[in-house]
Amino acid sequence: MPESRIKALESALNVLEDSPYFNCGYGSVLNLNGEVEMDASIADGKTGRFSAVAAIRFIRNPVSVARAVMEKTGAVILAGDGALEFARKHGFRESNCISAEQLSTWQKARENLARGKKPDLNLFTGLEHHADTVGCVVWDGNGLAAASSTGGCSLKMPGRVGDTPCLGGGIFASRTSAVVCTGMGEAFIETLTAKYVDEKIESGLHPQQAAELALKRLHSLKGAQGGILALDARGRFGSAFNAAQFPVIIMVNGKTLEDYEPVNLRQLLRVH
Ligand code: ASP
Repeated sequence: MPESRIKALESALNVLEDSPYFNCGYGSVLNLNGEVEMDASIADGKTGRFSAVAAIRFIRNPVSVARAVMEKTGAVILAGDGALEFARKHGFRESNCISAEQLSTWQKARENLARGKKPDLNLFTGLEHHADTVGCVVWDGNGLAAASSTGGCSLKMPGRVGDTPCLGGGIFASRTSAVVCTGMGEAFIETLTAKYVDEKIESGLHPQQAAELALKRLHSLKGAQGGILALDARGRFGSAFNAAQFPVIIMVNGKTLEDYEPVNLRQLLRVH
């Protein structure tokens, strides 16, 4: 039986993967070739297990495939066609995951590129009123866990994999903390930002301080934009961002915290 924290993560992310308004599952941004390639992962802090899929195509709920990788295989990461074959074998729902809006924004961006103009689109969300990569952290009273799912960056090179399936880069969970990140994946991977947040919490910082410190470090090392959400084993949480937006919802014992806002570091850590 999967632990309740893993089920909770999967259920939360499946809803977002099925929505066209988030850059994951159906609604993912398109790569240079006009295809959706997605990354997703689950980190279980209690068992120390991690599993991910990378550059997977045609599967509506990549985070569920990541869970199956954890539960049914000895592998940690499955990528590309191998991940798709595994998902098909286990009967996961298929879809080309291309929403009409993402397709039309991609077509315009390609026309601009062909004319030597800048592609006029939000790299992370594809569309102005859409949201980015999704992530979730959970403490179920027994352990901490994190999960994330994304279509990556608009117009990425086919085969490009971001930080979402990179343990320590865009996601981490231990007995100390659960952390998820969004933003320019390459910067998160090269700075091991999610692991850094865990280390800071382990050394005694509150998750809020750890998230802010990690974002400042990311900005000073790489000049990158992003958002970080962290939770510790005492149920304390924190979040900070310097990207255009970073909507966060916190639920405690089934109740949503009213008026919760992540700390906005955009003024301080502006990306030019
Ligand atoms: N971190 C994701 C990636 O680089 C994208 C994002 O979070 O916006 O693939």
